[in-house]
Amino acid sequence: MVRPILIALALISGLAACRGTEPVATQADTSALDASIASDSRVAKDVFGFLPTASAGGSAPLGFYSRGCAAGNVQLAETGPTWQAMRLSRNRNWGQPELVDFVQDLSRFAASQPGWEGLYVGDMSQPRGGPMLTGHASHQVGLDADIWMLPPDRLNLTSTERENLSSIRTDRNSGAYVNDAWTPQHTAILRAAASDPRVARIFVFPGAKVEMCNTATGDRSWLNKVRPWYGHNYHFHVRLNCPAGATYCEDQAPPPPGDGCADAQTWVNNIINPPPPDPDYVAPPSSGPVRMSDLPGACLAVAGSE
Ligand SMILES: [Zn+2]
Repeated sequence: MVRPILIALALISGLAACRGTEPVATQADTSALDASIASDSRVAKDVFGFLPTASAGGSAPLGFYSRGCAAGNVQLAETGPTWQAMRLSRNRNWGQPELVDFVQDLSRFAASQPGWEGLYVGDMSQPRGGPMLTGHASHQVGLDADIWMLPPDRLNLTSTERENLSSIRTDRNSGAYVNDAWTPQHTAILRAAASDPRVARIFVFPGAKVEMCNTATGDRSWLNKVRPWYGHNYHFHVRLNCPAGATYCEDQAPPPPGDGCADAQTWVNNIINPPPPDPDYVAPPSSGPVRMSDLPGACLAVAGSE
């Protein structure tokens, strides 16, 4: 079983490296892997949560942000000229090369902002992506990154400090408004991220979106990618598009057109004045943990790679 998996991974990785058209052999091998994984009932986080290093070979995001894994992730350096990765013990400072490049680029922009030496980078992906033992429904394909709201005032934190330092919350009234910790620099950094064509979406608490809607000047098109979501008051979450030629990567449908400001205001209104519960509401059945059989077959090759 090992040999076909390694051959398939080499083919997938080779494909990813050149990101060209799909060779017939790869199609056949991934079909075999799809057949194998269909009967694999292991809980996927119990597989991917314990893999300490990236898979060998080229890089490829495989599957969807919340149902996938990542071949050939690379590690964001623990410290760079304009960033530090936080909570190193989690070993989640990994991502596709496009994500690592993006984080470094955004950190350079952040360092141009008054009071910001760069970025403190939270969870990205595990070495081979996939579901995590704790936290995060997504972050599985190496294209998601959490960025701390705390403005870095120094970039020489020890690993112990990176375990113990906390970010700051930037909301009040359960996400309905920004608090005094929110600054124009936060807006500038989120705007820079949302204006980057590599970015698909940014998740942040509703009050921050409304704040940016109310203060944005000039071009407002970047607001489209900034989406209100639960939590995301100590960090914001950047999600990249599938890179060009990433055959096995599944993009999320784009946000609806427009700046999304009315929608964000509705979120805020519902926080301030919660609507009465719907008497007909029935909670959906729990789907349980993500299993290997929920992932693309190629993830078997990623999990089994040297
Ligand atoms: Zn996140």
